Amino acid sequence: MIAVALLLLILVAGVGFLYWLLVVTEGAYLGSGVVAFLYDRGAASYDRVKQFDAVDDARRLALPLVRALRGVKRPLVLDVATGTGRLPQTLLRNLEFEGTIVGLDVSMGMLREAKRKTARYHGRVYWLWKDAMDLPFANDSFDAVTCLEALEFMRDPVGAVKEMARVLRPGGTLVATNRIGLDGLLMPGRAFSKATLEARLADLPLVSLETKKWQAYYDLVWGRKEGSLPAGARPREIEQVLWCPRCHGSALSVGSTRLACQSCGSKYPIKNDIIWLQTAPQQSQLGVGSAERCRE
Ligand SMILES: [Zn+2]
Repeated sequence: MIAVALLLLILVAGVGFLYWLLVVTEGAYLGSGVVAFLYDRGAASYDRVKQFDAVDDARRLALPLVRALRGVKRPLVLDVATGTGRLPQTLLRNLEFEGTIVGLDVSMGMLREAKRKTARYHGRVYWLWKDAMDLPFANDSFDAVTCLEALEFMRDPVGAVKEMARVLRPGGTLVATNRIGLDGLLMPGRAFSKATLEARLADLPLVSLETKKWQAYYDLVWGRKEGSLPAGARPREIEQVLWCPRCHGSALSVGSTRLACQSCGSKYPIKNDIIWLQTAPQQSQLGVGSAERCRE
């Protein structure tokens, strides 16, 4: 009898652990390949499940971001882990925003959804298939960097924010989210107390930090990189800020079907307007794509 009870206990604990590993934390502790795999599978129904409030996004995301970017000529914005393009959509709907957005994600399925939903803004948003731990951009590239509902799914959230601060121009704005409440407690090492996260961001160094209550499970954190954005400076194009994920060479020539690195010779395909910068082993692990990373 005791043996049966023990067996049942182990079974329940095992099921509970698997539920936490795959559902509650969405594969976050199994690596970015698993996260991408799960998001690929859920991409088509993602927005239906999340039920974003477009009016609230316009008021609490787009409007303050546009205000922060006032004075910058055609600002360049990076949205890390862009998902189905929630941030690009709300920003592009704001008529005062005249800039360009780069949406980056590790899930090709989510990027395809994002591209479909922003088709009317063709030419104002670029989609990059790439994880966030090694951003393929030169230092001081973007006027704003955003990352919504995603830090906790990254292997090293603090390292990821450090990368975001690296590619942010002095004076540029950073917007990120921090998982809170029970959901935050269930993700040890991936979610932080308000004080801890602000201290980590201040170390980067980011200034003017402000944590705001946003959604039931997320705080919204705003900060600014030390320095000031040069008002009226010549706008930057994506070709000027991209660098090769392999050699970090900045001389990438952009064609209609691929990028080519002048330094190491690596080539990266562009398919259906999505730039494939994700490098192995992710592709080979999950069969998302194969031999797309070509070197000639
Ligand atoms: Zn290269």
